Amino acid sequence: MILADLATGEKAVIVRVHGHGSFRKRLIEMGFIQGKEVRVVLNAPLRDPIEYEIIGYKVSLRREEARQIEVVTEEEAREALVHDEHLQALPGDLEEEQRLAKALAHVAEERHHNIRVALVGNPNCGKTSLFNMASGSHEHVGNYSGVTVDAKEGRFNWKGRKLVFVDLPGTYSLSAFSPEERFVRENLVENVPDVVINVVDASNLERNLYLTTQVKDMNLKVVMALNMFDELKKRGDRIDTKWLGKILGMPVCPTVCRTGEGVPELLDTVLEVADGVSLGEPVSVDKIITSEDPGEIEKRYQFIHDTLSKTYVRHIEPVGEKSWTEKIDSVVTNKWAAFPIFILLLYIIFQATFTLGEYPMNWIDWLVAKFGGFIGDFMKEGWLKDVLVDGVIAGVGSVLVFLPNILILYCFLSIMEDTGYMARAAFIMDKLMHRIGLHGKSFIPMVMGFGCNVPAIMATRAIESRKSRLITIAIIPFMSCAGRLPIFVLLAGAFFPRHSALALLAIYFIGVLLAIFSAMILSHFVKDDDLPFVMELPPYRVPTGKAVWRHTWEKGKQYLEKMATTILIGSVVIWCLGYFPRSNRDVEYQQEHSYIGQIGKAISPALEPLGFNWKMDISLLSGVVAKELVVSTLGVMYSGESTDDPDNTQLQGALASSVSLPAAVAFMLFILLYFPCIATFVAIKNETGKWWWAIAVCAYTMVVAWVCAFIGFHITALLI
Ligand code: GDP
Ligand code: MG
Repeated sequence: MILADLATGEKAVIVRVHGHGSFRKRLIEMGFIQGKEVRVVLNAPLRDPIEYEIIGYKVSLRREEARQIEVVTEEEAREALVHDEHLQALPGDLEEEQRLAKALAHVAEERHHNIRVALVGNPNCGKTSLFNMASGSHEHVGNYSGVTVDAKEGRFNWKGRKLVFVDLPGTYSLSAFSPEERFVRENLVENVPDVVINVVDASNLERNLYLTTQVKDMNLKVVMALNMFDELKKRGDRIDTKWLGKILGMPVCPTVCRTGEGVPELLDTVLEVADGVSLGEPVSVDKIITSEDPGEIEKRYQFIHDTLSKTYVRHIEPVGEKSWTEKIDSVVTNKWAAFPIFILLLYIIFQATFTLGEYPMNWIDWLVAKFGGFIGDFMKEGWLKDVLVDGVIAGVGSVLVFLPNILILYCFLSIMEDTGYMARAAFIMDKLMHRIGLHGKSFIPMVMGFGCNVPAIMATRAIESRKSRLITIAIIPFMSCAGRLPIFVLLAGAFFPRHSALALLAIYFIGVLLAIFSAMILSHFVKDDDLPFVMELPPYRVPTGKAVWRHTWEKGKQYLEKMATTILIGSVVIWCLGYFPRSNRDVEYQQEHSYIGQIGKAISPALEPLGFNWKMDISLLSGVVAKELVVSTLGVMYSGESTDDPDNTQLQGALASSVSLPAAVAFMLFILLYFPCIATFVAIKNETGKWWWAIAVCAYTMVVAWVCAFIGFHITALLI
């Protein structure tokens, strides 16, 4: 709470005085020191100044000044009495008033000792590296802008004080144009951090200092972490940090946040600044920039230019000498080579993900089956055994099986990201993606969708533009995931035995076309956020093994945590629907008369125009949990038992003889396009933050699926 917000008559204890220089000194001289009690004598709305009573005498402050004083109110202290362990241990015979006084002092003391530090800086300047280094956290660091999307908090002790670090999203300015800018600005205004660490990328001072001047204008205590100092030194540049600090009115600490060099000195400086020991006096920033007049931009840059010309000596590269980044870029973004290289990389990644991933996948499959068998041997026959083995264990297995794929995919992606290649990929794809209303960064998630829609949707986080992000999320389900492949292999083999590869290709192609088409339509409906296309190409960097591993594992964990529960519950529910009510007849009869069979029959009128029979309807229902289940459900319904038909030849025969070609085409199209799967549904909800968005996407896919299947049915019928 701040002093200015107290009502007449309220009492509070001072935590600390913000602001700096003579203003702060004056307040302290007047008695506004940590631990002292203040009471509001008169605070009428709109009335300035406000009258306070402190250490026995009355003073009045302007509201503006009272805003700089942080306090603990009696109400806050009362709350602490309930929740704080330390305060609960107070002797029981204390009077209420004494208890409250003790609580006030305790909370004020504790808050005084906690120093809240906000990290502010351009994207990709090393904020998260610093955050992790200082707090020992494991947040994701990437050589790609837009990796941190919301504020992360980390606490740790430094020299007996508690520091609370907040890692904010990267911004280029605080002008409140983009959501990030607004978010950071509001965070600074509302939460008033005790100290701001302005992380500055030393290899790009002009642009980074723009934000610095804006932070300085917000009248906060600022320390500059002049990061990537190693790169600056390597280039042979020189900078006078002392003088720079003098001109900007803030301590400047050179750091290399990747290795932790300079971070202890930075933290020491933060403590000094928080306690008001080391105060930078703003010398010229305030004088130069005062208003929001139209020429302000130019003025800031003029100021920065002047400052740098006094403090910074750039090493002039000998003519003709190119940096490593330039050399690599001349190949990687070359007019002719860019796309072949990109496609080759994608090919390698896909091959590795699915061929390499197959081995651990089979092991997991085998282990799960063994485990199920093992449990099955021990338990008595009955529904409990069935639910455990066929529902729970098989359900968990179907989640675990994809873990190797996800880990391998993410390992590659994080290498691509950390080296800086990802930004190039987005860069070369931007023109094509822009035509359909998307951003270059949308491409990677879309391609990943061929593997699994879930991590693909999670990967859209890197897209800053809300509009591009939402549209990308909405169209990813049309990218045919690996889970759908076995169904297409089965059906293509049954109905297009001589052209099955072509049929597969056509299916993938139709999916992509519909994704593009949908993006074009949706871009007319989703509100534009008018973000200009700004994308930086960071210098290439050698990724650290630790960062790659951490990122890969984080994603794997996320997948398990978020998906396991939903898929588990979903598959048990679907399993139960197929298992009850119980009959003693064969499996096929059971399926037909179970709840799922009844639901299948109930929805069959809606699917009848597409030529589907009720067996196909039921398999579609089971595909709602995971598309992989469609094949096994069809297997159960067409051949009674699926066990003696390992390569599905019997099933293919049965399908070919009972399903017409137009219906088969419609079925493939429907599977390609309809409701993605529960895990994807949950991923959409998590990433957009809204249920209705997930529901809308699913409703849209259903409509598209039905219409396309209908068209496919009739065109095929016409052709044969
Ligand atoms: P953020 O976007 O500001 O959170 O930046 P990150 O912490 O994600 O870092 C961006 C990239 O810069 C990563 O590849 C880091 O490994 C790298 N990086 C961070 N600090 C330094 C540093 O001091 N020197 C060098 N050479 N690289 C750094
Ligand atoms: Mg970050």
